Amino acid sequence: MTETQDPKMLWFSFLKAFTRALTQINLYKPDHPQVRQALDEGQALLAQITESLAGADFSVTLDHDKLLINGTPLLAADKLPNSLRNLFTKFRIQTITFKPGVTGDDLLALCQVQSHKGEAKDYLKERGIDRVKLDEAIYAKVASQTSPGLVLPGQGAGPGLGAGAGGGPGQGAGPGGGTAQAAPAAEKPAAEKVSEKILDLGLESALLAIVARVTPDPVEQRRLMEILTSKFKQEMETTVNRALEGLRGEKKKVENDMVRAQSVMTSMADGVVVVDKDGKILMMNPQAEAISGKPLAELSGKKIVDLSQIEDQVVSLAREITSDSKTDISKEVGKTGSAGLAETVKKATAIIQNEDGKIVGTVSIPTDAAKLKQAEQLQQDFIANMTHELRSPLTSIKAALEMLKLDAEASASGKSVLNTAIRNTERLNSIITDILDFSKLQSGKLVFHQEEESPEDIAKEAVDAMRAWATSKGVALEARTEAGLPKVYADRRRTVQVLINLISNAIKFTPQGGAIEVSADVGKEAMAGSVFFSVKDNGCGIKKEDQAKIFEKFVQAVSGEKVGGTGLGLAITKAMVVLQGGKLSLDSEPGRGSTFRVGMPVYTGQVDQPVFEKPPQTAVEEKSWWKKLLGM
Ligand code: ADP
Repeated sequence: MTETQDPKMLWFSFLKAFTRALTQINLYKPDHPQVRQALDEGQALLAQITESLAGADFSVTLDHDKLLINGTPLLAADKLPNSLRNLFTKFRIQTITFKPGVTGDDLLALCQVQSHKGEAKDYLKERGIDRVKLDEAIYAKVASQTSPGLVLPGQGAGPGLGAGAGGGPGQGAGPGGGTAQAAPAAEKPAAEKVSEKILDLGLESALLAIVARVTPDPVEQRRLMEILTSKFKQEMETTVNRALEGLRGEKKKVENDMVRAQSVMTSMADGVVVVDKDGKILMMNPQAEAISGKPLAELSGKKIVDLSQIEDQVVSLAREITSDSKTDISKEVGKTGSAGLAETVKKATAIIQNEDGKIVGTVSIPTDAAKLKQAEQLQQDFIANMTHELRSPLTSIKAALEMLKLDAEASASGKSVLNTAIRNTERLNSIITDILDFSKLQSGKLVFHQEEESPEDIAKEAVDAMRAWATSKGVALEARTEAGLPKVYADRRRTVQVLINLISNAIKFTPQGGAIEVSADVGKEAMAGSVFFSVKDNGCGIKKEDQAKIFEKFVQAVSGEKVGGTGLGLAITKAMVVLQGGKLSLDSEPGRGSTFRVGMPVYTGQVDQPVFEKPPQTAVEEKSWWKKLLGM
């Protein structure tokens, strides 16, 4: 047992076991076998040491650059494993004193001090540990002359204390060339050693190491640390502030610009919307919010088309902006919408360029557009209300006239006057019906109730309604339907109205002696899924160049005789057909007559049978035909 009889060997072995415990406790729970083993070993070695010291205390001191055992230098501080050195430096401990009878739990508590946030001393005190003492005061003076008997075994004391988890107490610390030499740590120049030491340390630990070098007095050390830390803080603050000064100025400038731009925008009487190059909304002033009826928070990032009806204009402008930055951007906006609206948007839209002349977006002031929209709305409401109001007195007048006509006492000339009056009320009524239907279509209030309907019944009902008028004009009118036609998916009342409109035009434009044929067939043009109603006349016919135009609102082709009407009939008729998923076509030759064909979808029996072409609600691309048709 020569190895353990050498006191230094015992010390080394103890320090090794303790260091291992310090490391293991960071990795495992306190009752882990690895931890327990290291603690038990440490405790046993400590018992041997105190025994060899005849019951005296055993002290471990970190003084400057040396580790002292009971005042005797054992090895250089920089050879200490980090965990052991940190225990001293972190809590500014200078000496750990072990009194006789230290238990494994005492050692465990000392190991656990490492991760404690407060004072190490308090930690032990709270746990009633009085056999381990932590001292900030210098325990022992460094021996001026290192006794040859206490010389470190070999120079590599570091590895000997390495905290390798598996290292047994004797490993690596075996007696090397135990020759009489001064400890190498004491011989190295101090400055060099500090610089090496602090290389891997954090700022605070590095300062602590330097301060410990300057004075051994812990009170003075603490003061020095405080002074240095506060100076460092001050210096840092000044440097950071100086660096931030420029940035703050820039930030303020940008903020001021923003505030100015915002206050200009806010105080403008007009609504202002700023969009990016994709037409997405960036900013809006309160007036624009009021016009749109929605807050910026809700519209921000959305395309301006969501906001108003100026869709294609701004979007096409934005498209031009993105397409090719080298070419000049035409200030003319797209003419896809109604001419008035395009003009309004053109006037209201400004292109925003950045400092490099690159176009980054547009600003639109949609006041005119909004006013136009408002005016259109007012106009529509007015028409709808007025026509409605006109209709009720007209109905009573017609009823009164019919009653008078029945009066047997009326003279023949009186009856003729009455007939004229009745015809005119009918005409007025049909004009009012047209206007009302048109305004309902415009506002999207015309609702269709499509059901399974017989095409024969629809054709017959329309013909029956118009027969009297055709007869009075000397025009033959007959219905001819194919047998076994499939049922159609249609709003009966509206489809009858469609045929009545077409028959009434045919009567108007067919001279006395002419003939009109209303038929229904499944069609030859491989259009399975449709039933076709045809209204064929042998009247004046329509010129090629007029054939597309007559379906637009307020268009009346020039014809030989002046026959009255609003020019709305075909526009309404086409809208009613298409909104039911049908199609309307025309085949006509001037002088030979016209054939209008209405293709209606066959009833399939499916719930919510889809229509061919539902009118798009939010058309962004091409303006939809029916919006154009209705002048929206
Ligand atoms: P209106 O209500 O004035 O008749 P429509 O929209 O119904 O208006 O018709 C527009 C124009 O189309 C008419 O003015 C007429 O010139 C032409 N048109 C419509 N149907 C016929 C037809 N069967 N034969 C000849 N021309 C027609």
